[in-house]
Amino acid sequence: MEAIGAQRILMPSMVHSSLLQKSGRWTQYARELFRLKDRNDEDYCLAPTHEEVVTGIVKHNTVSKKQLPLFLYQISNKFRDEIRHKKGLLRAKEFIMKDLYTFDLDELSAQSTYENVCESYSRIFKRLKLNFKKVKATTGLIGGKVSHEFHLLSNVGEDTLMICESCGYGCNEDIEVEMKLKLCPYCNNQLVSQKAIEVGHSFLLGTKYTEPFELSIDNKYLEMGCFGLGVSRILAAAVEVLSTENQMRFPLLIAPYKVSIITPKKGSNEEKNNITQFGEDLASHLSDNMFYDDVIIDDRSHLTIGRRMNDNKLWGIPYIVVVGKKALNETPKVEMISAYNNESFEMTQSEIIDYFNRVRNLNEVNE
Ligand SMILES: [Zn+2]
Repeated sequence: MEAIGAQRILMPSMVHSSLLQKSGRWTQYARELFRLKDRNDEDYCLAPTHEEVVTGIVKHNTVSKKQLPLFLYQISNKFRDEIRHKKGLLRAKEFIMKDLYTFDLDELSAQSTYENVCESYSRIFKRLKLNFKKVKATTGLIGGKVSHEFHLLSNVGEDTLMICESCGYGCNEDIEVEMKLKLCPYCNNQLVSQKAIEVGHSFLLGTKYTEPFELSIDNKYLEMGCFGLGVSRILAAAVEVLSTENQMRFPLLIAPYKVSIITPKKGSNEEKNNITQFGEDLASHLSDNMFYDDVIIDDRSHLTIGRRMNDNKLWGIPYIVVVGKKALNETPKVEMISAYNNESFEMTQSEIIDYFNRVRNLNEVNE
């Protein structure tokens, strides 16, 4: 986000009703909005998104032309009283969202800002190595002129996309109905339906919020855009599309732990010969020099290696290192399992370090 010039802020979760009344969303939202009252009977809500709040902030701080386009974003908890609420993180009533709001002087620059941000969102999904699809969408209660959704294709998804397999055009089913689309508008191919999970949404808002808040420069209302990424939803959706029956899989970039080191079983020869220490030294080296704190030691030595290996796979650990009897060799070797690829190698400590250096360069693991 910093790369496109965005500044991080944090806005309040609890928002006074007067702000949403200005935009009309206080009455437009039915039961999705969590509403509450304070001791003086004043109405508040837990913000579903922050268009009104951010517009109020920009208005209050009097921006100059030179500061435009202005990009403000936050990563915070959002609240929606979802009717299709689900267990887990896919559709929760409280979730983490990254929301970005942009302000431009005119429609033309707002359009180019919109495209820039959409491209940066696409780059995020590419870096996560997720198979995503950006499609045209309806604007709904947020409003505005143009809208796109970012989806991960998955049969458990609740959205249906209509996709042209020839040119890659895609739209949400709602758009297809609204525009009575049967064929791809670009190449006239038949559109194919595909289930998907929505993980991001962008809107070119126009002056929907700046007009009621009278946010203008030179008597012209500023043109706004808003862009949401469902942070907790992306994690859950990625696990959904990448995992197998026996193995949870994350995008490597966001795997909570990158490496687990399994120490010898209690009472084994290896343990008696004190090679547990070897595993612990390797863990501190990887943790200090490569993966920061994303390395764990599975020292539940009362359990067999096999049992711990299965657990580590279920937890979604991408790399598992087993310290076994070959660690007693003159040049100690350990077993390195690349769990997501079902590959295993025997490696010396320096080979492991070389290997992880290559992995890290390929995946920018710590960025
Ligand atoms: Zn097409």
